[in-house]
Amino acid sequence: MARSKSVLISRYGKGPANSLIGESRREYEALTPRIPYIGEKNRLLIFLLATGRYLAIYRVLQGKNLTFEEAGRIIYQMNAAELKSIPILGRRIIGYLWFSSWFIQPSRLRHFLREGKPQRCKSRRRLNMRRRMPISIKWFPPSWIQINARNTLLFIDPAYLKTYFKDYPKRIEFSSWPDPIDGLPEELEQADLILVTHHHKDHCKRVTVNRLRRPDTLVIAPKRCAKELGEDIQTIKPGERLSRANVVIEAVHAYNTEQGRSTRKQHHKGEGVGYLIMIEGRTIYHAGDTDFIPEMRAFGQVDVALLPIGGKFTMDISEAAEAAIAIDPKVVIPMHRFEADPRRLADEIETRSDIKLIPLDIGETYCLKDVTV
Ligand SMILES: [Zn+2]
Repeated sequence: MARSKSVLISRYGKGPANSLIGESRREYEALTPRIPYIGEKNRLLIFLLATGRYLAIYRVLQGKNLTFEEAGRIIYQMNAAELKSIPILGRRIIGYLWFSSWFIQPSRLRHFLREGKPQRCKSRRRLNMRRRMPISIKWFPPSWIQINARNTLLFIDPAYLKTYFKDYPKRIEFSSWPDPIDGLPEELEQADLILVTHHHKDHCKRVTVNRLRRPDTLVIAPKRCAKELGEDIQTIKPGERLSRANVVIEAVHAYNTEQGRSTRKQHHKGEGVGYLIMIEGRTIYHAGDTDFIPEMRAFGQVDVALLPIGGKFTMDISEAAEAAIAIDPKVVIPMHRFEADPRRLADEIETRSDIKLIPLDIGETYCLKDVTV
């Protein structure tokens, strides 16, 4: 405390500094009982007490008509003076402890704040790992993906059901809806987020989106989808980013190229999108309908890439293999398949890279488990 007091003395002189410290102490005593979680035995106490202390000083300085910035600067100087009084080795140890993965791991902190006590680490190995919640990824044809992570439910391109669910045991009848569809598996809940890549009916279907949306569901789609989905959507263009709760969405380009393997060049640059979905520290890429495009090389780290392989409207298997190798994700899940055999894609990419191919059956879930960083 003597060091931080010297900051106040050098600024205000001894008498005023002493009275400021006296006031701050009284303020701190009044504040402490009102700060949540003080009074319980917990590992964050050191931070809570320090916060209370500097908050008390801030309130006193504010009473002296100092601006937020001026008060902040003084508090910073006081804090720096205190830290400088600790030998460098001590500072290193404190720094290591305070900024260790244990302390900065958000799930652990959240758990702690909820439960009032920290989760136990089972081993030293786990101390050095950031544990993340599993993410489940479910596929329906052609490019309909359900992502579920920590109570956030997200659909991409929930669309066209007519032919796919005839044999699905839990389907429910929606044929009385304005647009006849054959049924939806009943466990498809309503979503927090729905992303649509482009306006073609096998990706963009009003009746399905309406079935899956709640009043607070955010529906994100390119502008051309408004004709089918209505105006109550958030439009997006390639290069734009949006976030909702724990999810960040970035729209990227998706289009057919002259040299691409698609035979029907119906996807024009700028109209449709793909999505990079950042959730729970992982990035999932949904390509939409596209050929292999140069933009794919610049996505950065991708954990799971959902790639079309069917040809005709999109890339085919050999082009998807080129795309997969350029994107270099940990996992590829093929979609928009038509008759293409995903095992052939596995042959192409697994012999040339460490990328794992996960071909899903209709309604099957892939679980992306804890990944270390
Ligand atoms: Zn399309």
